[in-house]
Amino acid sequence: MRAILMYHSLDASGSPISVSPAVFRDHVRLFASGAVDVVPLETLAANMGAAAAPVRPQVALTFDDGFANLAAEAFPLLAAHGLPATVFVVSGQVGKDNAWGGVRARGIPTLPLLDWEALGAAQAQGVTIGAHTVSHPHLSALSEAARAEELDRCVADITARLGVRPRTLAYPFGDVPPGAETLAASRFAVACTTVHRPLRAGEALHALPRLDAWYFRTPGALDDLGSSAFRLRVLARHTLRTARRLLVRD
Ligand SMILES: [Zn+2]
Repeated sequence: MRAILMYHSLDASGSPISVSPAVFRDHVRLFASGAVDVVPLETLAANMGAAAAPVRPQVALTFDDGFANLAAEAFPLLAAHGLPATVFVVSGQVGKDNAWGGVRARGIPTLPLLDWEALGAAQAQGVTIGAHTVSHPHLSALSEAARAEELDRCVADITARLGVRPRTLAYPFGDVPPGAETLAASRFAVACTTVHRPLRAGEALHALPRLDAWYFRTPGALDDLGSSAFRLRVLARHTLRTARRLLVRD
């Protein structure tokens, strides 16, 4: 099995964007055990074309929004075990917080985001910086030109500040309106959604699904990653999420 894991904040609040540092350490214990291969996001995407399934489950680690708590709770641990990861950065909010557009979201903690200096330090430790737009908008609410601007300015900001052009994108809120994949494809090697399932062979490179780490909060919840029991649990969750979205129309 191949899968991309999606984290946001590492804090103990229990919010929908939070995985506790203790749970993350439990995940890292598995990643460092040799039972799972952790590879860079682009490598994982390139491997999707391979005919055979990997011997061990292969995963890529991604962190959306660039929360400041990653500097203490994730980066040292990842570096200690030589585990690659990608952080998707909202370039207009770097060093500020996740109140997108100045509005605090209900049920979501408002937390500080990494500044450029901390992102540069993470990059020096081997973390890959990806794009997550300038202002974290719902892309479906924007014109085609405004969407392109969100992507282009984010790429320009990150390149200017960190000296490396981002090659990966995560769509804010997992919102991928028609045409967005094409915009992403002309700018990035791969782009990630929030569709909760593992990768399939031949997956569209600019609409990659990810497993939300929030669903693996109980100790050992990832330990059978790649097994058929694990697949069934994820499929059940995916189906529930899809059904709920159709009903609620969020
Ligand atoms: Zn985000």
